Amino acid sequence: MDKLTKASGPVMEALPVRETIVGEDMKVRRALPNRLRRLVGAWTFLDHYGPVTLAPESKGMRVGPHPHTGLQTVSWLYAGEVLHRDSLGFKQMIRPGQLNLMTAGNGISHSEETPCPHTPDIHGLQFWIALPETRRHREPGFDHYPQLPVMERDGMKLTLVIGEGLGERSPARVYSSLTGFDVELGDCGTHTLPLHPAFEHALLVIDGELSVEGIAMEMTALCYLGDGRERITLANGKPARAFLFGGAPFGEEVLLWWNFAARHTAEMAAARADWEAHAARFGEVRGYDGPRLTAPELGTRLKTR
Ligand code: MN
Repeated sequence: MDKLTKASGPVMEALPVRETIVGEDMKVRRALPNRLRRLVGAWTFLDHYGPVTLAPESKGMRVGPHPHTGLQTVSWLYAGEVLHRDSLGFKQMIRPGQLNLMTAGNGISHSEETPCPHTPDIHGLQFWIALPETRRHREPGFDHYPQLPVMERDGMKLTLVIGEGLGERSPARVYSSLTGFDVELGDCGTHTLPLHPAFEHALLVIDGELSVEGIAMEMTALCYLGDGRERITLANGKPARAFLFGGAPFGEEVLLWWNFAARHTAEMAAARADWEAHAARFGEVRGYDGPRLTAPELGTRLKTR
């Protein structure tokens, strides 16, 4: 197995997050894939955007129709709204506290945009979860979850966005053992959160500052924690927020290129050709006011969503 995808017991790595642009002009901080680590469980991609206050004339986020294969997209908001449209015909607004989960399987396409009119602030996360071999060639799907399990533990408000944790299970459909928690630290002090020791975990600071096992973390780095931990200790002097995610080490090599997850470069070439040829596999997104995205040339390392 690739040493970059293999968990290594409890560790504490601050993986630098890099800035890039998504869609027309949305600045994001990309935490995964990371030069130092490509996967955390099945989690393979993480963009953090905002918080930003949009000018009244701003159109906000505009990501035109584009394809995906071999993964699930997870959309989670802290402020604002995003309108999703896909080639299965789903048109779904997402707001803070809700989950949009798209399962690409063998192929789907979608667009994402800030609706008009919209609230002034925008802040959120976009993840990808790699699908296992047994699921990645199957039919696509889309699910919206307006309500998710919320728990209070040791001064923290925890929303189980996806997967399992603390004896609960999110209703969101997933295909490997994983977890994803929104962690609100409204009370100041020290908080202990039990973890699944067989999972590797990572934590991204979303707002404020907090320390993880006594080490100060900011939103400029993804805190990779390794596996084999029974619990994690968080401490904050002011209200803070974080996202904790992880899962069983994935155990499959995952190739990412542009918006595709696969195992072989030949699959990437086929997916790219199918998108450019308007093949039925990716369908068509209706209602988005703008052009579909053009795939980059094979061999470029460009990645967007
Ligand atoms: Mn996408």
